[in-house]
Amino acid sequence: MKALVKKNREAGLWMEEVPVPQVGKNDVLIRVKRTSICGTDIHIYHWDEWSQKTIPVPMTIGHEFVGEVVATGENVHDVEIGETVSGEGHVVCGRCRNCLAGRRHLCMNTSGVGVNRPGAFAEYLSIPVTNVWHCDPAIPLEVLSCFDPFGNAVHTALSFDLLGEDVLITGAGPIGIMAVAVAKHAGARYVVITDVNEYRLDLARQMGATRAINIQKTSIEETFRELGMKEGFDVGLEMSGNASAFRSMISNMCHGGKIAVLGIQQPETVIDWNTIVFNGLTIKGIYGREMYETWYKMTAMLQSGLDISKVITHRYHYTEFEEAFRVMASGKSGKVILNWEE
Ligand code: NAD
Ligand code: ZN
Repeated sequence: MKALVKKNREAGLWMEEVPVPQVGKNDVLIRVKRTSICGTDIHIYHWDEWSQKTIPVPMTIGHEFVGEVVATGENVHDVEIGETVSGEGHVVCGRCRNCLAGRRHLCMNTSGVGVNRPGAFAEYLSIPVTNVWHCDPAIPLEVLSCFDPFGNAVHTALSFDLLGEDVLITGAGPIGIMAVAVAKHAGARYVVITDVNEYRLDLARQMGATRAINIQKTSIEETFRELGMKEGFDVGLEMSGNASAFRSMISNMCHGGKIAVLGIQQPETVIDWNTIVFNGLTIKGIYGREMYETWYKMTAMLQSGLDISKVITHRYHYTEFEEAFRVMASGKSGKVILNWEE
């Protein structure tokens, strides 16, 4: 089968012919139909420091996908051939305290599809049945292929009560943009999002942001006053990984405000700890998605009118992956989809 492989320990990806993966007793073999490109895939493409430490070579990459079941292992009884499925990219141990307690997103033995084990940018993918998500076939395939990052947005956004609250999101990347729509759907009053990228701020407006501000031109304080807010934001969603964005969030929260941090911060990022202490802020780190509470919420919200389709801005055939990766890395895109069907 064809697969997009990190073949050499250098920048780039290679379209290779590799064997169809083995289907173990507890596994499901999926014929991949659509995939979407994640920031992580861009890091792997460019072979940054994190990738050099993390990715064994050769490795088929990719973890955002949807496809059709074509084979199941002998212990698998509740997955039908032909079914449309997506899947959780975090493969957990199932035996640690958190796994046994149903907090699988907190497993300390997590391995990543397309990072530590063969991924989804391929014609076929094999994953454990416990990682398979049965999709609602009424949801478009390209939206289903984004359930992994959409799940990051949902898990982060729904960390704290949003009904009637004012929400600040830093970073209008694909995940921040989806979080805008989720926060509005969940009943937030104002949703203000910041970035430095006009293309993405415009997408955030289309997804329902009350204000999408370029912090190089407009301050959060200004926006805050203009909206007639007096006490600061109730909930913050850090989705940029940028230190100054994180600092500006901390200084614009109300007393007792709650912040969920998804953005991966630089080591030794300096923040104002005493604002956190004196203003009684809560900070919660977010990794991945809840298995499978987040997946239920994503499905239910889409079924009850949430529309995230505008986050998808580009579509390519898998053979055009170079162009797809170039567009994704340019910052002038939302989600970029690869079609693996003929
Ligand atoms: P992205 O890199 O596409 O988006 C980040 C955005 O932040 C960009 O649009 C960038 O222009 C913007 N930005 C840069 N400086 C800024 C500033 N000073 N103020 C406001 N915005 C600024 O990333 P994404 O795919 O949308 O993911 C969001 C973040 O979440 C990234 O940091 C990513 O690494 C992280 N992430 C974490 C997890 C997890 O499990 N914790 C999972 C996926 C992604
Ligand atoms: Zn575990």
